[in-house]
Amino acid sequence: MNIPSPVPVTHPITIIGSGLAAYTVIREIRKINTEVGIVLITREPGYFYSKPMLSTAFASKKTASQLIMTPIEKMASSLGITIYPNTTVTRIDPLDKKISSSSGDFYYSKLVLALGADQMKLDLEGNAADQVLFINDLEDYQKFRDRIEGKRKIGILGAGLIGCEFANDLSLGGFDVDVIDLAPQVLGRLLPLAAAQVLQEKLSALGVTWHLSTTVHSMNHQIDQFKIELANGGTINCDAVLSDHWTQTPYSTGKRLWARYADRDCC
Ligand SMILES: Cc1cc2nc3c(=O)[nH]c(=O)nc-3n(C[C@H](O)[C@H](O)[C@H](O)COP(=O)(O)OP(=O)(O)OC[C@H]3O[C@@H](n4cnc5c(N)ncnc54)[C@H](O)[C@@H]3O)c2cc1C
Repeated sequence: MNIPSPVPVTHPITIIGSGLAAYTVIREIRKINTEVGIVLITREPGYFYSKPMLSTAFASKKTASQLIMTPIEKMASSLGITIYPNTTVTRIDPLDKKISSSSGDFYYSKLVLALGADQMKLDLEGNAADQVLFINDLEDYQKFRDRIEGKRKIGILGAGLIGCEFANDLSLGGFDVDVIDLAPQVLGRLLPLAAAQVLQEKLSALGVTWHLSTTVHSMNHQIDQFKIELANGGTINCDAVLSDHWTQTPYSTGKRLWARYADRDCC
């Protein structure tokens, strides 16, 4: 759905992405300029929601649709912008100031990349290696909920911030959770050992099972479950596997889209 712009412009300020960064930039631009044309292009449906809520929704008993805070129409009208939802940008040509996308070409005056993080491709063996789930937006979250409907055992790859948040949330939601991480402690890059141990004990008390200092060797289908074989020889059977592995490199994503190397027009 294209929301008609109140100010038709051929070369507007263009923002790619509809996460917190994108909408915050637009709100800040509007504080100093209510007239300039702004176009937002996103591969998401364009509504506003708080991404951190995705990893606390089971405990707060919220469905995916209940997490939508502001519909796309209201975002467009309140900010005075044109939104192109469900549109994936495939190429940026900074010399011609041209964006190629699944909905056609766009021209911009200034460009903001608010692309977020990419999921990391996991190097796993096994005939179910491609079944690992990632949750990076509301649609992923809905798919995950559909997948675990009526199921009980969830494996989480990674005991980082998001892995621990989902371990907490899913345990509170009544699931059995196994967490696997190469590091010997949870939140290895964020917490000192003593603090990590307190968190680990609290989550253990909720029923979380830890497989630390090891990694997944392979993931295979086993009847209607998955069988995970660990590098330390252990095995885990579960109904769904979630990964918390992300590369926080929006610049590399942007660079991949770049048709020619020139970044002076990109802020
Ligand atoms: C489950 C979860 C929980 C989190 N919890 C926290 C938390 O508690 N605290 C915290 O600080 N952070 C948390 N984060 C990190 C969170 O991602 C950031 O804090 C913040 O939401 C990122 O906002 P963003 O706008 O930079 O990126 P995103 O919200 O990821 O937005 C990126 C946008 O770019 C769009 N996009 C990307 N590529 C293209 C393309 N080629 N074409 C068109 N559109 C494209 C996407 O569709 C999306 O709309 C969490 C992340 C997740 C996944």
